[in-house]
Amino acid sequence: MIDAPLVSGFLGAGKTTWLAEHLRRHTCDLVVVNDVADQGVDDALLREAASAAGARVEPIVGGCLCCDRADELRRVLLAEIGRRHRGDAVRDGRVVVETSGLAAPHRITRMLADDPVLRTNLSLRSLVVVVDGLGGRRLLRHRHGVREQVTLADRVVLSRADLARHGELEELAATVRRLNATAELAASTLGAERPVTPADPAVADVFDDDGTVAEPDVRSCRVDLAEGTSWAEYALWLEMMRRAHPERLLRSKGIVPTRDGRLLVQSMGGDVASPVPAPAGVDTGMVFVLDRIAPEVLVRSLRAHVPSAGV
Ligand SMILES: [Zn+2]
Repeated sequence: MIDAPLVSGFLGAGKTTWLAEHLRRHTCDLVVVNDVADQGVDDALLREAASAAGARVEPIVGGCLCCDRADELRRVLLAEIGRRHRGDAVRDGRVVVETSGLAAPHRITRMLADDPVLRTNLSLRSLVVVVDGLGGRRLLRHRHGVREQVTLADRVVLSRADLARHGELEELAATVRRLNATAELAASTLGAERPVTPADPAVADVFDDDGTVAEPDVRSCRVDLAEGTSWAEYALWLEMMRRAHPERLLRSKGIVPTRDGRLLVQSMGGDVASPVPAPAGVDTGMVFVLDRIAPEVLVRSLRAHVPSAGV
């Protein structure tokens, strides 16, 4: 299996700087970099870091990976898989995909899940979203697409931490927390990370787009399952949800407390990871990220089909 984390974030958020530092610390075989501009990606910092890490850089330019260049992304990834199957290269490895600032990550995960070869060779279960530590809160309030990225993320990195005024990052972290209850949070200065604790904001954020309060398409909800939830019931229900709403259950992640122990369960699009024993200290509860489906609908369905969960 090739581990394929996705790195996203709005234009100018500091994705490339973060990625360059990330490459200094983690092994990687290929970096796919997307730029909607026609000029090739010519970021000396990234190329230098990639070459030091022994990784190739494959730029995809002139369009966005999630829509008009989706075929190109598929071609690049299939070529990488083919290369491994042909040669004596090890089949495991790591491919990092950096999206353009405008990409909708869930479209990319759906595209990967829909392709049988990509689905069986790539494991895309981690989404890192970089948010500008200075202008991020304003962007999150007014930009629906940025909120979607943050809502889906496994890890949110607040960039330019060294330039933020006192308390600014903590307030931004609180806004991120409201959108995403489970993502790991970090503050970053030129890619070097430190922990950040969300502030307790007196005034809640109002999310709107250009003055009109928008009903979000992508929403997350958290459901606590009772101890002794039947794994058989839950697995059957998850499979049924995936079939009934293949495009709408974007992901699920959390703990199912079964009679035989606590299981960490996650799905991304059509891809359901095998459940593993949950690490100690993780809260019970499942988080679902939904596209154009009301959380109430999901909860009702869960209640009907998984009675042992006591929802
Ligand atoms: Zn796109």
